Amino acid sequence: MEYKRSSALFAEAQKVIPGGVNSPVRAFKAVGGTPIFVKEAKGAYIIDEDDKQYIEYINSWGPMILGHTHKPVIDAVVDKAKKGTSFGMPTAIETQIAELAVSMVPNIDMIRFVNSGTEACMSAVRLARGYTGKDKMIKFAGCYHGHSDAFLIQAGSGAVTFGSPNSPGVTQGTAKDTLLARYNDLENVKEIIQQNEGEIACIILEPVAGNMGCIPPVAGFLEGLRALCDEHGILLVFDEVMTGFRLAKGGVQELFGVKADIVCFGKVIGGGLPVGAFASRKEIMSHLAPLGPVYQAGTLSGNPLAMAAGLAMLEELNQKDEVFTSLQKKTAYLHEGIEKVLTAAGVTHQINRIGSMISVHFCEAPVTDFASSAKGNNDSFKKFFHGLLDRGIYIAPSAFETWFLSDALSYEDLDKTIQAIEEVAKEL
Ligand SMILES: *Cc1c(COP(=O)(O)O)cnc(C)c1O
Repeated sequence: MEYKRSSALFAEAQKVIPGGVNSPVRAFKAVGGTPIFVKEAKGAYIIDEDDKQYIEYINSWGPMILGHTHKPVIDAVVDKAKKGTSFGMPTAIETQIAELAVSMVPNIDMIRFVNSGTEACMSAVRLARGYTGKDKMIKFAGCYHGHSDAFLIQAGSGAVTFGSPNSPGVTQGTAKDTLLARYNDLENVKEIIQQNEGEIACIILEPVAGNMGCIPPVAGFLEGLRALCDEHGILLVFDEVMTGFRLAKGGVQELFGVKADIVCFGKVIGGGLPVGAFASRKEIMSHLAPLGPVYQAGTLSGNPLAMAAGLAMLEELNQKDEVFTSLQKKTAYLHEGIEKVLTAAGVTHQINRIGSMISVHFCEAPVTDFASSAKGNNDSFKKFFHGLLDRGIYIAPSAFETWFLSDALSYEDLDKTIQAIEEVAKEL
């Protein structure tokens, strides 16, 4: 039986780890069945504990943009490990990766490294509040900024005032400073600002959303937010944890030519090790401890292994500009192929794509925000997911997730994927 060892491992894991997983997105709750346990990976493929190989499209939810076990990254980590794994003292490599990141990303002078995207986003908001002396922030429904309290807020029905927590453990006190807006809806943001004039420290968003499927900003949305922020003394925070070093060397700021005040990173910047970072111009970053009063710290921040992986990854991307073009072409090819076979099978669908991010939605109307993304048919998605899994294609086990391509994928892999989708489409 397929998935035999995975099933046994999952049963064991559930006894000692809540839900058997260390991050809920790994569970198969939305699609049913047992999560597959990974034994190893190479390039565009993962091999599970039952020795089944998959062409894969999550790539650790983004970081493995060049594929698994990319040699320069692995070599850098192995070399570093031999010299000690953590010191709690400054090391030269931290400045090296900081200099490189600052040179690749527009509008930043300084960067602080942390251990996850969650940490990056929560620290960015603390900095924005400390810098502006204001308490509130605007976030968008369907945007994910990690699991810190202030971000786990859901919209009440059409509420444009106070959000309510969508996880027990988040207090009303915390929730009241998070104002919820609709993605791609500038008018909605204007209203919220008017109702909270002089109280908003920052607007945080995924400038290309990737956590409700892939949703690019509509024309003028980012520019409009920039103008509103300038007009009202609000900082614009781009959460580029997913898009940074993926959609372009300089992320969405470069791609759309819109300036953010603070930028958050994670995923690709760590090359597959636990790294996050937030960055801004010197004037703002100078408010951080030890230069300024806004406190932020980390025992393992700037960890040498993590920095070695991140530096090797950024160097690769910096030297090989063609990676982004190559990824974009592969993703467009996949898009065209999927479009063709789903249409031929008469399956109602929408496909969103930008750069190396793509998502397939089983619904009729264009997907432009959380509400339209939520209209996708989950039964179709479940069949789609399991049909592909059985055929050795691994996509994220949730209809709300984006697929992330790696440049290790060959056109043959893409053709196999399209072929599998053609077969599965007949069963939808
Ligand atoms: C993944 C993600 C985060 C959280 O990063 P972690 O490393 O999982 O804490 C934050 N923001 C966005 C946009 C993400 O995709």
